[in-house]
Order: sequence, then structure tokens, then C-alpha cells
Amino acid sequence: MADHYDVVIVGAGPAGLSAALNLARARRHVLLLDGNRPRNAATMVSHGFITRDGIAPHELRRLAREELAQYPEAEFQLATVRSVSRLDGAFAVDAKGVNGSPSRSVTAASVLVATGLKETLPALPSIRAFYGLGLFSCVECDGYEHSDRPLALIGETSDLAARALLIAQWSHNLIVFTNGVGRITDSQEAVLAARGVRVERREIADVVGERGVVSAVSLADGSAIAVEGGFVRPRWDAALDYVAELQLSTDGWGLLLTDADGRTSATGVYAAGDSTAPGPQQLIVAAGAGARVAAAINRDLIGIARA
Ligand SMILES: Cc1cc2nc3c(=O)[nH]c(=O)nc-3n(C[C@H](O)[C@H](O)[C@H](O)COP(=O)(O)OP(=O)(O)OC[C@H]3O[C@@H](n4cnc5c(N)ncnc54)[C@H](O)[C@@H]3O)c2cc1C
Repeated sequence: MADHYDVVIVGAGPAGLSAALNLARARRHVLLLDGNRPRNAATMVSHGFITRDGIAPHELRRLAREELAQYPEAEFQLATVRSVSRLDGAFAVDAKGVNGSPSRSVTAASVLVATGLKETLPALPSIRAFYGLGLFSCVECDGYEHSDRPLALIGETSDLAARALLIAQWSHNLIVFTNGVGRITDSQEAVLAARGVRVERREIADVVGERGVVSAVSLADGSAIAVEGGFVRPRWDAALDYVAELQLSTDGWGLLLTDADGRTSATGVYAAGDSTAPGPQQLIVAAGAGARVAAAINRDLIGIARA
């Protein structure tokens, strides 16, 4: 265990793991810290990652960590980063060990934020029991398995109409449940209706089904509407308290703004994966961003001028 690293990477999802592998291969001394709370732990199966379509999320991470362990330049540790602050032209990183791992206080020339998102689902009593099993958030990830089925989209945000149009690519048999909160304008509703998508504005009581399989959405007035699975639009939060001192620029949704290579508004601080604005939120996109930001960090550490 060292005290100083070229790069500390916070978060060992696909973005952080991919960046760590590529930085180690660039002979950079890297510390990868992870709080061990991956967002996709809710699901058993991941889709759309070439050569790994259908893999369990924890297995994808295990394989990546096994590969990384071959490189003496990279160190992995389970720890939750509590703060990143500036210190004499570098960064001080303070992390609390989890699952019996020791806490760490180290310095680094660069820091990569790869901590993904925290998500809040609409406050329905049973929704969490279905999430990742019969109710999903990423249609690119889980739409194919629900093709042409009667589906629900549940959400309370202002982008529901656009999400509904996207889901209709997989099934037109779709009802958008706003829970009386999500905003869909009359003109958006007309566009959706032209695609066969219905909007249901009544208050939701709960999600109904068994063993993770969604069979209906029940409403506060006592009625229930049958579906065979669906999607939910969580509220996403990049949970950036631990880098608050760095005052990084974010977009209107609170996601980090970066240049095309992952440089944030603070010199020496980078970001990749779901905590950044571009999307879509997919494993392979996060892994690609991790590789890209690794190349940028290595070049910046050398001092190569940007093209
Ligand atoms: C239910 C569900 C199903 C999904 N299915 C698919 C699918 O089939 N295919 C697909 O391509 N994508 C899928 N996704 C999306 C995919 O999981 C994400 O796009 C991807 O994991 C993002 O990678 P990331 O590296 O940015 O963040 P994450 O994978 O979320 O990793 C972030 C890591 O940072 C750690 N962390 C957070 N805060 C701290 C801290 N302060 N200190 C240390 N560590 C910290 C967390 O423990 C976590 O391990 C799914 C997502 C969900 C929620």
C-alpha cells in the first residue's frame, strides 16, 4: 500500500475498472477504490456488452478485477471515499474501509470520478421488490426481452413522453403512469396516442405481481390495469458530496459536465460513466468512457498539449 498515486479512481463499475486497466497498462500507478454498492446489483442479468450478453453483473466485475489483479501497477480496495480535496497541487483522498478493509488517506496527481448514480424510485410500497426483475429503467438493456408485451412506464419526471416514445420501439402496447405527478403535455399525449401509447394520470397505489413478475399497476381509486412488465423512470443523483470541495460543474440534472475526453471543470479531476452527462446508461458505454478518459489522463500527466 502506497501513500501517493498517479491516479485515484473512485468507483469500480465498468467505467472505473476499464480506466484502471488502461492506466495500469500505461504504467500508471493507480488506486481503485470502491464502496461495493453497484446500482445494477438489483438485476441478475446484463445485456448488450459484446462477448458478455446475458452475464450476471457481479460476474462482469469479478472478471474485470481478475484481469486488473495481473498488473502490479494497479491496486484495488473496498473503501468508500468520503472526501477529495486539493493539497499542494495534488489531491488528498480520504476513504473509509468497508467489509473489513482498512481506511485509506492518500494523495494523487489526478482523480477520476466513476461513482455512477444513486437512484430513487417513485414511492410505491412494492416497487423495489420488482426493480431489476420485472421492472427496469434502461430500455436499451432490457427492452428486447419485453418486445410487444403490454407494458407500464411509471415515472414522475418531465421527460416521460420522450422515454415512452423510446420504449414504443420495443412495444406499442404501453401505458404511461404519471402518478398524477409526471408531466406530459396535451401535444405530447397526442403524439403518444398516434403511436398507440396511452397516458394514465390517476394516482398509483402499487405495483402488483409475484416473485418479481409484474402483472398489474393498481390505482388509488381501487382499480387495476393489467400489464406484463414495464419500466420505471427513477430520479437519478450523481451523489457527489465527497467531491463538493472541488466545485465541479454539473448539468440541470446534477450530472457532471466534462469535455469529450472526460475532463471536468477542475484541472486534474476527470469523470466517466453514469455520473457524467452524455449517456446512454449502459455497461459498455461506461467501459468505453473509462478507456477514453484513461488515455486523456495519461496524456495530461505527460503534459502533451491537447489536439
Ligand atoms: C437494474 C439495472 C439493470 C441494468 N441492466 C443493464 C444491462 O442489462 N446492460 C447494460 O449495459 N447496462 C445495464 N444497466 C446500467 C449499468 O449498470 C450502468 O450503466 C453501469 O453500471 C454504469 O457504470 P459506472 O461504472 O458508471 O457506474 P456503476 O456501475 O454504478 O459503478 C459505480 C461504483 O462506484 C461505487 N461508489 C459510489 N460512490 C462511491 C464512493 N463515494 N466511494 C467509493 N466507491 C463509490 C459504487 O459502489 C459502484 O460500485 C442496468 C442498471 C440497473 C440499475
